[in-house]
Amino acid sequence: VLELGTPTAWTRSTCPYCGVGCEFLVGTRDGKITQVKPALDAPVNKGHLCVKGRYAFAYNDAPDRVTRPMIRRDGEWQAVSWDEAIAFVAAELKRIRETHGPDSIGILGSARATNEENYLAQKFARVVIGSNNVDCCARVCHAPSAVALAQVFGTGAATSAFDDIELAQTFLLAGTNTTENHPVVGARIKQARRRGARLIVVDPRKTELAGWADIHLALRPGTDIPLFHAMARVILEENLTDPAFLAERVEGLGAFREAIAEWTPERAAEVCGVSAEAIRQAARLYATHKPSICFHGLGLTEHHQGSETVMALANLALLTGNVGQPGTGVNPLRGQNNVQGSAHMGCEPNTLTGSQPLAKARAHFEQLWGCPLPTTKGLNLMQMLDAARKGHLKALWLFGYDVLLSNPDAAHTAQAFERLELVVVQDLFMNESARAYGHVFLPAASNFEKDGTFMNSERRIQRVRQALPPAGDSRPDWQILCDVARAMGQGERFAFEGPEAIWEEVRAVWPGGAGISYARLEQGGLQWPCPSLDHPGTPRLHAQSFPAGPRATLAAVPYVPSPEQPSPEYPFVLITGRTLYAFNAGTMTARTPNTRLYPTDRLEVSPSDAECLGLREGERVRVVSPYGEARLPVHITQRVKPGELFSTFHDPDVFINRLTNPHRDRYTLTPQYKRTAVRLEKLPNA
Ligand code: SF4
Repeated sequence: VLELGTPTAWTRSTCPYCGVGCEFLVGTRDGKITQVKPALDAPVNKGHLCVKGRYAFAYNDAPDRVTRPMIRRDGEWQAVSWDEAIAFVAAELKRIRETHGPDSIGILGSARATNEENYLAQKFARVVIGSNNVDCCARVCHAPSAVALAQVFGTGAATSAFDDIELAQTFLLAGTNTTENHPVVGARIKQARRRGARLIVVDPRKTELAGWADIHLALRPGTDIPLFHAMARVILEENLTDPAFLAERVEGLGAFREAIAEWTPERAAEVCGVSAEAIRQAARLYATHKPSICFHGLGLTEHHQGSETVMALANLALLTGNVGQPGTGVNPLRGQNNVQGSAHMGCEPNTLTGSQPLAKARAHFEQLWGCPLPTTKGLNLMQMLDAARKGHLKALWLFGYDVLLSNPDAAHTAQAFERLELVVVQDLFMNESARAYGHVFLPAASNFEKDGTFMNSERRIQRVRQALPPAGDSRPDWQILCDVARAMGQGERFAFEGPEAIWEEVRAVWPGGAGISYARLEQGGLQWPCPSLDHPGTPRLHAQSFPAGPRATLAAVPYVPSPEQPSPEYPFVLITGRTLYAFNAGTMTARTPNTRLYPTDRLEVSPSDAECLGLREGERVRVVSPYGEARLPVHITQRVKPGELFSTFHDPDVFINRLTNPHRDRYTLTPQYKRTAVRLEKLPNA
């Protein structure tokens, strides 16, 4: 503050990083952000912020921020006017649609954008382009949670509110490094642990919360299904279920018993690499020291059985009645600020706004939008890239999402980009996708420069408020979408004066959000479903029944070992994930002082493996997989087990996704980031 100057104005808004959704006050002076501080009365963060929300805002004024539209001509980027850029994009999209058909174009919404902007992105794809080829970055993170929770409980979202943390007696944290990736929730869990709540952590690594746990099940990456099935078996065998809940609210017990029959704790222990006794203790603790609540992260979902793994976790809640009651539930911790909202607004090929299935809701939307909707099956992000590689997809429009750096097996992603005739990148910075493959760059206003709403992990919709005018010539994403729609002859369906007008249309098409008006949001966030203006919102789902009826069905899912297995040539298993100080592809945090705290990615290696390989702390190594290689410094730590490695993925110079594997979740095609077989090589003269 001393350096930047005391703010002269404060604007309340919502953090642009993780899915916790902390509210903060943005302090500005002379057209710049000089301070961010927590909103003391915010229901989620209750006066706290983490090192990202509080200090990582300098990207807004970064010197390399692109603030004029650009078109690449003869290999060189040239600044152009907005009129020229919009006309170029509209003409190219029309040309490609006329030549190759509407399904040769794909649009990707963004967790960085507001709900209103994501709503327009999917409406643009369906109404202006005429294709269901629309998706978002949920595809590479929690799409399996949405599918699994929808299948088991009937709603593909967190069942509970963060306020259930203070009511829970036992926490089952699975595949979530909460204190680094969702720090304010991690802090609330630590406070609960201090007051006596019990903690079970399921994670291959010794995360900070594993150090606080009563039981740490440090399983082999991707073996969660045998673990959860064995816990279920113990719960059933030792009569630790909630008999009344089981009788009144659950079905499918017979098929479920058969599915888990082979998973004795001893058998699971062999597969998972943990002790059978620890599995028994975890099952007993979760089932008896109630209420018990689950939080899970990408350690469950980013596997080739990601969806089935979340279903196996949800089974435990059904068996023990740990859903729908205070202090219970199954809750995905969403990685990005508005990834929940992005998918929920309809940026998925098979759902419309409000996660309404396309097949069911089509007629309603056709009536509201006044035009027919495309009938062909849309492609998700991974299918779009596959189609591009085969030459079927010709154009891709990316909002705030560096696909090249973020997606696994980068050589494959690059092959897809190489064949595209049009890559439109809408972002704050010339990200790696734009730098390598962009044809046109549309400069977007940042989260500090626009109005709208975000939706956090607990289904809470909160306001984003403009603190500064858009930098240079940049424009909010919603305005750019409306401009291109107008240039393509659909102006009347995109004639919005601003985000509130767009939100009014969202309320009209989504019954579960009809009661959430901007006027009400002035008093604070609201959790959907909230169907009418006098409805208080729904902090906790499934209290009396499930959307499909009184009972939920246990998921009798099999365990199928990952196709990605270590071998003599690739003897280590690499897991990738985030650090506290940086965020995803680093587009934002790499332009803030947080880089002083975590300057580059590093590879965690166990002390025994480091000794075997003769590695020293900080030494750069070559990591090689069947798909590619990367070089980065070593960090020797007890946090990883021998035979396992962990790397962050924030530094474009390291570009760890050059070597991550191409396997995908069997239901959603979400990449298996959490398990790649690799070898380590010392570099000469290291
Ligand atoms: Fe932002 Fe998440 Fe940190 Fe809260 S916990 S300040 S939402 S990054």
